[in-house]
Amino acid sequence: MGSRRPATELPPEAWERLICPSCRARLARDGDWLRGDCGHRYPILHGVPHLLPEYAERDDAPVPGETRAP
Ligand SMILES: [Zn+2]
Repeated sequence: MGSRRPATELPPEAWERLICPSCRARLARDGDWLRGDCGHRYPILHGVPHLLPEYAERDDAPVPGETRAP
């Protein structure tokens, strides 16, 4: 068993500095997502966060094909 991480894995201190590129809110890791207090979220692919504005999804945004029951 090795404890080596892939070279692409960010060090812990780097995760704490991640901010939302859209509104500069602090981001926190949640599984395979980085979530901000702003409601934006960004995918973490292979241990690397993809902080691209076009990836931003707001939790309150309507999901295509899904309708909310009244
Ligand atoms: Zn944001």
